[in-house]
Amino acid sequence: MFDAETIEIFKSHKTPFYYYDLGLLRRTLDEIKTHGLSKGYHVHFAIKANFNLPILEEIRKAGLGIDCVSGNEIKRAIESGFTGKQLAFAGVGKTDEEIQIGLDNNIFSFNCESLQELEVLNSLAGKSDKTANISIRLNPNVEAKTHKYITTGLNENKFGITADKLPKLFEMLPSLENISLTGIHFHIGSQITDLQPFKDLCDRVNEMQDLFEKNAIRLHHINVGGGYGIDYENPDDNPIPDFKSFFEVFDRNLELRESQQVHFELGRSIVGQCGSLISKVLFIKEGVTTNFAVIDAGMTELIRPALYQANHRVDVLTSDKPHKTYDVVGPICETSDTFQKKVQLPELQRGDLVAIRSAGAYGEVMSSGFNLRERVKAVYSE
Ligand SMILES: *Cc1c(COP(=O)(O)O)cnc(C)c1O
Repeated sequence: MFDAETIEIFKSHKTPFYYYDLGLLRRTLDEIKTHGLSKGYHVHFAIKANFNLPILEEIRKAGLGIDCVSGNEIKRAIESGFTGKQLAFAGVGKTDEEIQIGLDNNIFSFNCESLQELEVLNSLAGKSDKTANISIRLNPNVEAKTHKYITTGLNENKFGITADKLPKLFEMLPSLENISLTGIHFHIGSQITDLQPFKDLCDRVNEMQDLFEKNAIRLHHINVGGGYGIDYENPDDNPIPDFKSFFEVFDRNLELRESQQVHFELGRSIVGQCGSLISKVLFIKEGVTTNFAVIDAGMTELIRPALYQANHRVDVLTSDKPHKTYDVVGPICETSDTFQKKVQLPELQRGDLVAIRSAGAYGEVMSSGFNLRERVKAVYSE
C-alpha cells in the first residue's frame, strides 16, 4: 500500500492518473537479473504491456531487450535507446511497412507466424539487399490454463504455425535466400500462474528441437515467450513474481545444445505490480442490494475488467471507517464498466481516493478516447 506522504502527493494531482513505483520496478528487474540474466538467459520486455519512457529507461538500464508487436513499437524502442539487435518482432499481421522498419533496424529476430509471411519477408529483405534473421513461431498446442481471450498456444488460436505445416516449411526454406532461420519461438498465453504449462512447453520445445535437427536445421536460439502471471488478489503480499521458480523450470527442463541461447519475452510480470490507477469517488448511490461508488476512472482508463473479467484489487486511501458493501463503478455508459462487485470497503464519501492496483501492464496502453475523455496521465514515484 501507499504511505501517508505518497497519498498527500496523490491529492495534489488531478484524477484519474496512473502512478508508477519505479523503486518496485527496479527491485523486480533485480530479481530477473539474479535468477534469469545470471544464467545467460536473454529477456525481452514485451513493450505492448507498457511503453512509457521512464519505465523503458529502467528496463534498458537493467540490460533487457524488447519484444515488439508493431512497427511503431520498434520505433519507440529505438528512440528509447535500445539497439536493433535487442529487438524481437512478433505479430500475425505485420504490414509491409512494419517489416521494412524491422529490416531498416537490423533487428535480432522477426518472429514469423505463417508461411506466407516468410515469402513476403524474403522478398522485402531481398529488395533491401539484406538477410533477415527469423524465428518460426510454433503453436505448441499447450493449455495455458488462463482466460480464453489470453490463451494463444492452442491449435484453435490464430497464432503461430501448427506442426502439420512443418514439412512444407522445411521444403520452402532452402529457396528463401534472404532469410536465415535462427530460432524457434513460442508464446502460450498470459497471466499464467501455474508452472505446469511452462514445463509442458519445455517438453514441446525439446521435441521440436529434435525434429528441426532431423531436418538438418541447427537453432541458434530458443524463444519461449512470456506469459508469467502476477498476484492480482494480494499485490502487497506478492509485489514481485517468483522469478526463481519460473526460470528454474526452464533450467531443469530445456535440453539445450551447445552455446544455444534462450530468450524470454516477459511483459506483465515485469511491470504489472508497479502501476496503480488512482481515482476519486464522484458519487455514492445507495442501491437495493449494494451501494455504488461511482469513481472518476472507467473502462476508458483501464479496460481489463470489462474486456477479460480481470479482477483488480481496489484499495481505499483516505477512509478508515467501518466497512460497507460497494460495487465500484466507472462513469461510462456500459454495464461492464465495473471494477469490483460487492466488495467490503471502508465507508466512502465523495472526494475519497481509491487505488486500483496491479494496473502497470495492459492498463494505460489500452486507454482510449471513448466518450471524448481526456487521455489519462502518468505520475512517477520520482
Ligand atoms: C504479449 C506477448 C508477450 C508478453 O506476454 P505477458 O503475458 O505480458 O508476459 C510475449 N510474447 C508475445 C509474442 C506477446 O504477444
